[in-house]
Amino acid sequence: MSVPERLLLGSGPSPVPRRVLDALAQPTIGHLDPVFAEIMDRCRARLRDVLLTSNDVTLPISGTGSAGMEAMVVNFVRPGDRVVCGVNGLFGQRMADELGRNGADVVVVEGEWGRAIPTERLLEAVDDRTAALFVVHGETSTGVRQPLDGLADACRAVDALLLVDCVTSLAGAPIAIDAEGVDVAFSGTQKCLNAPPGLAPLTVGPRALERLRPGRSWYFDLTLLLGYWTPGEAARAYHHTAPINLVYALDEALAIVLEEGLPERWERHADAHEELLDELRELGFERLAPEGEQLASLLCVRVPEGIDEAAVRRALLLRHDIEISGGLGPLAGRVWRIGVMGEGARPEARERLVEALRAELA
Ligand SMILES: *Cc1c(COP(=O)(O)O)cnc(C)c1O
Repeated sequence: MSVPERLLLGSGPSPVPRRVLDALAQPTIGHLDPVFAEIMDRCRARLRDVLLTSNDVTLPISGTGSAGMEAMVVNFVRPGDRVVCGVNGLFGQRMADELGRNGADVVVVEGEWGRAIPTERLLEAVDDRTAALFVVHGETSTGVRQPLDGLADACRAVDALLLVDCVTSLAGAPIAIDAEGVDVAFSGTQKCLNAPPGLAPLTVGPRALERLRPGRSWYFDLTLLLGYWTPGEAARAYHHTAPINLVYALDEALAIVLEEGLPERWERHADAHEELLDELRELGFERLAPEGEQLASLLCVRVPEGIDEAAVRRALLLRHDIEISGGLGPLAGRVWRIGVMGEGARPEARERLVEALRAELA
């Protein structure tokens, strides 16, 4: 069965440019081949540039964004650790679940779905028994951006780690790992990086590295993974077979981001978000996130009364080849989540969506 060309404007995956698909389709070579080793090194260097970090330990974990989450937890959270976890949407909930399954003493700081969690509330929960503070930088279930200001200082003051999910913000909204004092962060390839799903960029700073011990997971054990991903005299040690072609794709996707430049890319996302919101307002939609708390790369809007949201989404997909996403959890049936991610943050994408939507709502 042939696969249709869809315009992916949902919560991910996002549109994958031809250049990235072409990179993916290059010949598969061995995971210990010296040519692949060069690609691995280049990919890691590009990842550092996109994450704005000098962290040596910056690599793509094999698996989707959630694999990055799991790698973070199994390597840096030990059973009994007190971990403060901000929860104002599905991805915060998921992390609280993950932490609990790994034996952490989870202190949930609950926030309203559709709002950022006030920084003071997070800081109140961080005390000298705290091992780590976790926040979702870009909450894809609500389209909210969590400010990181002040979090790193508070963590350092009590010797806790700052852990961040930047799956949907990376390369779509400003985040600077080193400047913002983030100790460990994970992302995904299929949001603003515009690569296919299957890898989870992970970066680890020096404060976190001091705590790294062989953990409970064999597959995600960073001490083993670094034996493969770290260049040097020693031969790269086989751990698991890297998803070779996905690494080609990520490497190319990162090159595209760097060619554009991060400030330019962030601005383009912010502008595309505003322009789409203006058009949707004319059709009666309102953004869930208040001004100043929005995540540029994901526009979550309330669906006006009287619209059968599921039927319209289905028509957009099947009649117009455009995918957008519905709501999750308490927002199911009440909102749409529209991805403004990379190639999806272009005027042509907005025009196609708005035109199709006007036709379906008429
Ligand atoms: C998509 C996403 C994830 C999970 O990534 P998968 O690739 O679906 O495993 C985690 N956190 C956030 C904020 C996301 O948007």
